[in-house]
Amino acid sequence: MTLKAFECRMCGHCCHGEGGIIMSEKDRQRLALHLGISVEELLEKYSEERNGKISLGTGDDGYCVFFKDGCGVHPGRPDICRAWPFFRGNLIDSMSWEMIQEYCPGVNPEAGHAEFVRQGRQYLRDENLLRYDPATDPNALITDED
Ligand code: SF4
Ligand code: SF4
Repeated sequence: MTLKAFECRMCGHCCHGEGGIIMSEKDRQRLALHLGISVEELLEKYSEERNGKISLGTGDDGYCVFFKDGCGVHPGRPDICRAWPFFRGNLIDSMSWEMIQEYCPGVNPEAGHAEFVRQGRQYLRDENLLRYDPATDPNALITDED
């Protein structure tokens, strides 16, 4: 039987930290639509800009502004939230995969890195979460050629 390489445990660790949730144009439009506001309002109220990239803002507790006992905008969340933990580094480097196991209890060490990569690539392709435009899409996403 093939083991599941990842299953979210809803611990919230990946929703904590500043500037990590980069939003592409597609992400901004989808999230604004989900919230029923304009992209301008989304950017004004809920985002911040660093090094020319726009990301979701964080509250005083260091969590994403939309984190409330889980993701408060789940259907509208950005691609990078959908892609975690199948980020580029964790797919191409088994050491990174080992290191994230302390941070993300959803990653199953028993499945092994090769299976994590296989299931991750499949998931990213199925969910249309590959990096198509290096200029705007988050670096954490993998391209089909990586
Ligand atoms: S860190 Fe992992 S287990 Fe925790 S909420 Fe994020 S994806 Fe789920
Ligand atoms: S949008 Fe949702 S999943 Fe993404 S960081 Fe914020 S609360 Fe977490």
